[in-house]
Amino acid sequence: MGSRVLEEFLRENLAELKSKGLYNEINILEGANGPVIEIGGKEFINLSSNNYLGLATDKRLKERAVEATNLYGVGAGAVRTINGTLQVHDELEKRIARFKGTEAAIAFQSGFNCNMGAISAIMTKDDAILSDELNHASIIDGCRLSGAKIIRVRHQDMDDLRAKAKEAIESGLYGKLMYISDGVFSMDGDVADINGIVEACREYDLISYIDDAHGSGVMGKGAGTVKHFGHSKDIDLQMGTLSKAIGVVGGYVAGTKDLIDWLKVRARPFLFSTSMTPASAAACIEAIDIMEGSTELHDRLWENGLYLKKRLKEMGFNIGNSQTPITPVIIGDEVMAQRFSKRLFEEGVYAKAITFPTVPMGTGRIRNMPTAAHTTEMLDMALSAYEKVGRELGVI
Ligand SMILES: *Cc1c(COP(=O)(O)O)cnc(C)c1O
Repeated sequence: MGSRVLEEFLRENLAELKSKGLYNEINILEGANGPVIEIGGKEFINLSSNNYLGLATDKRLKERAVEATNLYGVGAGAVRTINGTLQVHDELEKRIARFKGTEAAIAFQSGFNCNMGAISAIMTKDDAILSDELNHASIIDGCRLSGAKIIRVRHQDMDDLRAKAKEAIESGLYGKLMYISDGVFSMDGDVADINGIVEACREYDLISYIDDAHGSGVMGKGAGTVKHFGHSKDIDLQMGTLSKAIGVVGGYVAGTKDLIDWLKVRARPFLFSTSMTPASAAACIEAIDIMEGSTELHDRLWENGLYLKKRLKEMGFNIGNSQTPITPVIIGDEVMAQRFSKRLFEEGVYAKAITFPTVPMGTGRIRNMPTAAHTTEMLDMALSAYEKVGRELGVI
């Protein structure tokens, strides 16, 4: 028999979540996470994946993955620092660096543990991290793990960043200072002011760290938000994932050779967790090949995003101020947002409601993620559902 304490803890807490309607039931997909998905034998237009370029199901990536599996096997066999660094990992890192315009890069098994590993390899309890208040959970956890003092900075507010940097320096309490921000904020689709960040970081000698999970493959013709603003050499750590637009799984940091050398001896997930599978690494290389060879998928993604936004706006929805294909439809009331999403589901559209505490109270929304793989016909079907449900619930 197991622990009675654990049993009680689980029973009470699960019951509480369920009674408050906060228990998330996970949908199981019967097939690939493409532009149309199947759940419970029914098809849905999929507006909830991060598969921006449609690469997760791309034939070229699949073939490359199979090829690498045949060559190297299914597993890397060890952590990177013992003998789990295969040629395919080394090649991937070189290709990331070239694509990003930096001297070097390091690949991790996921974006999440990349933030865990990289932040705490640089920052210690003697340091302080200035962090945008809307940063991703993995940044927050990475900052906590480092033990550094965390100083929240108002969202995208460079004056607040300057004021807090100045205060931190004048206090004399800290060694190194870092500023960390998402490159693209995934809930609103707004883009970090990289020019302003570079300027402020120079002024106060802050280490700059951009998490470009939602910018990789999307901004800068695929090379990311930092490249988009022409600052590839000015941002110290360009972090990103291989799991969103790149379509596979993994994370990376691109930067100077010294930085990457340091992370390769200090970032704990790199040292103590087995390397990404050869198939994943090879598929990522193929994705970079595709992005370097043509902007076709990137262009289609943006066209689809602009089309979706234009039509939703014409219908009278509040779509916020997204600067990327991410398209929020802001409903406001939390319960109404959930109801809206449920009605869309019944109408054959999979678009998740996002509510407090993920976004501020009173800004409940449906977040739509168009991809390069959606056809205009698919988007039109989703838009018809939006119009119908919007009228029915009095949102438009
Ligand atoms: C998704 C995301 C991550 C985590 O990336 P994974 O590769 O999915 O682990 C990190 N940071 C941000 C901003 C993200 O959106």
